[in-house]
Amino acid sequence: MQNRVFNFNPGPSALPAAVLNQIQEELLNYKSTGMSILETSHRSPEYEGINDSAIALCKEFMGIGDEFHVLFVGGGASTQFDYIPLNFLPVGGTAAYVDTGTWASKAVKEAEKIGNVHLAGSSKDLDYTYILSTSELDIPEDSAYLHITSNNTIKGTQWHSFPDTENIPLVCDMSSDICSRNLNFSRFSLIYAGAQKNLGPSGVTVVILRKDFLEKCNPDLPTMFDYRTHVNKKSLFNTPPVFAVYTLNLVLKWIKNLGGLGELEKITKAKKDIIYNLIDTYPDFFRGTVREDSRSWMNVTLRLPSEELEQKLVVKGKESGFVGLKGHRSVGGIRVSLYNGVPLEAAEKVAEFMEDFKKAN
Ligand SMILES: *Cc1c(COP(=O)(O)O)cnc(C)c1O
Repeated sequence: MQNRVFNFNPGPSALPAAVLNQIQEELLNYKSTGMSILETSHRSPEYEGINDSAIALCKEFMGIGDEFHVLFVGGGASTQFDYIPLNFLPVGGTAAYVDTGTWASKAVKEAEKIGNVHLAGSSKDLDYTYILSTSELDIPEDSAYLHITSNNTIKGTQWHSFPDTENIPLVCDMSSDICSRNLNFSRFSLIYAGAQKNLGPSGVTVVILRKDFLEKCNPDLPTMFDYRTHVNKKSLFNTPPVFAVYTLNLVLKWIKNLGGLGELEKITKAKKDIIYNLIDTYPDFFRGTVREDSRSWMNVTLRLPSEELEQKLVVKGKESGFVGLKGHRSVGGIRVSLYNGVPLEAAEKVAEFMEDFKKAN
């Protein structure tokens, strides 16, 4: 593991070293089959074992049972922006969306192409620097569903309490914080996440779908765009992203070895506390960009006193082995992404580096 940097890339992002090692070990000969999992049929017992294991581990961590389906599909989270209204926004109906940042806005834009969208709330007025409180939301009673984005990867905000929508199905894009903390997952009707931030490599999207919600699916959808197709075939209607699901399963096993989501959440909290502590200790130098109650535990966004200093920190960081600290091109500044694959040591080391940088500048 020499020459490995501390990787804070926003996505695709760091994977646990143990997982990468295992992939390397098994790459040429998966479980004595004499071939790589990359060369194996998705109809083989080996792949079925992987698919079943990943489904079971997702359910175990999330504390959900047979009232949910777990799917592994291609197309990225962005394709789900279309799937959801295609499947669940009925003709003449309305879906409610909360706009809390770049990805949430994209989801709104796609839904608007398909049907009526009601904006239940937006934090655009303050440049998406906060999460609306649930009492600020305006959710029409006849909404087909309410769509939210649990973690706003680019702006650095995160929902810390979720709206109680009662009879209205809650749909959530968890691409950048899935399985990083314990939540009451069963309150959601649909959860989706591109795996490449918290759960694995790019190429696979996890969709967790409540059975009674699936019953409300629109009729007559094109086969591949109908959730029922993938549910009925356990994500094996067409060739799934085999290697990505295999890696996802290894990451899930790694989480299990750590002790599950409860233990992982402790690490998540320790990591984010280290970085926010810098912001709280040196607020004139490390300027947090979001409201305190809305801080993301996954993507810590901050500005320095000047763009020159920000650039310098990114360059010096890279020289010192800290990669991926540049903020998203649309907002600038610094972003420290602390996904599951980022070890606690990386947060400790980068905080030391940043503190030294502050003292030197
Ligand atoms: C990264 C990201 C996406 C986009 O995911 P793709 O898999 O690239 O389509 C969507 N939503 C959120 C919250 C993200 O962080």
